[in-house]
Amino acid sequence: MTQLPLRAQLASALGRSAATLSRMTGRGDGSVIGGRVGLMLEPDLLRQLARDRKLALVSATNGKTTTTRLITSALLELGEVATNVFGANMPAGHVSALSQHKRAPYGVLEVDEKYLPEVLDTTGASVVCLMNLSRDQMDRAAEIWLLAQKWRRALSGKPTHVIANCDDPLVTWGASTAAKVTWVAGGQRWKEDSWCCPECGGPLDRKDADWACRECTFHRPEPQWAVDDDAAIDPQGQRWLLDIQLPGQANRSNAVMALAVADAFGLPVERALPRLREVTSVAGRYTTVERDGRHARLLLAKNPAGWLEAFDVADPQFPIILSVNAQGPDGRDTSWLWDVDYRILRGRPVFITGQRRLDMALRLDVADVPFTLCGTFSEALAMQPPGRVDVIANYTAFQDIRTEFGRAV
Ligand SMILES: [Zn+2]
Repeated sequence: MTQLPLRAQLASALGRSAATLSRMTGRGDGSVIGGRVGLMLEPDLLRQLARDRKLALVSATNGKTTTTRLITSALLELGEVATNVFGANMPAGHVSALSQHKRAPYGVLEVDEKYLPEVLDTTGASVVCLMNLSRDQMDRAAEIWLLAQKWRRALSGKPTHVIANCDDPLVTWGASTAAKVTWVAGGQRWKEDSWCCPECGGPLDRKDADWACRECTFHRPEPQWAVDDDAAIDPQGQRWLLDIQLPGQANRSNAVMALAVADAFGLPVERALPRLREVTSVAGRYTTVERDGRHARLLLAKNPAGWLEAFDVADPQFPIILSVNAQGPDGRDTSWLWDVDYRILRGRPVFITGQRRLDMALRLDVADVPFTLCGTFSEALAMQPPGRVDVIANYTAFQDIRTEFGRAV
């Protein structure tokens, strides 16, 4: 690997010091502030840090943190990997991740959907993994269509190898200008944002997983990889039992995306898959915390598609606690709760907490789902019988619960 120019070395070193200082003073993990300091001193730092490395960028509305983690775990089989493990998914976070692993020949970066074109241009990443696009908080279908259009422009004319989920029509459209695409049938649970053809606006006809526009030639490409229940099907048609520890169909899809990315790095399934099985939780997600004999499993749901994935993982035989906040990262407006069908919770003991528990209460009342309102998460937990309980929380509510249990990982 070639040496960084002196200015970039200095910017990178000062950024790392700022990050250490931030951690020592208890202001978070420091990955954002460190990257910001570095970029202030050398605006071209990300490009310089990315040079001479083989990078994968991972973007989606849901599952990007988990998939980034799975890919990183797989690529460790090849050597050192730089990654933004704390989910700081904008350029400052990327600078920080690459600065911390200066000699790592590989990098896996989670990238915010809006920043993907900029980060791809800057880093020249050779692999991009695109999984799903759906409304997030107050984004609406027109906005995610614009996002997909920006992806198309960014990928056009580049030698990037894209690994994309062909079950999501909008992702398919966003990826299809790339020179090389490996299509993965990764499934699509949330379909409400893709009833129209992104190419012409005509209606999309769907039959099982297949889809095609009724008015133009846009249709689902033939996948090379697929998920079949608990197995991955590789491009040769061979079945691989996934048997990963992360729960739910969404994570099995994430795992197959990770296997396809690993393959693009020259890593075969037989070496990548055991590494995926080592991942048990990701930044507190899917982890179980215990208090007085209550075992609470923590699930994160930030948007309508995320709620559907969490419902898939939550076990109907156990009570469930829902916690909703509306602080900055959550979006102040909770009207997106009305997009989710909560009737699936009927028949389960449901407890609601969080700053916006009354919004949630109204939503459940309209859906005829009985519930108990609780002042705090601790109160909700104490009301449970000993044993397991599932917890679904949106972003800051989830972080509050994690903090209460000592940054559960
Ligand atoms: Zn069409």
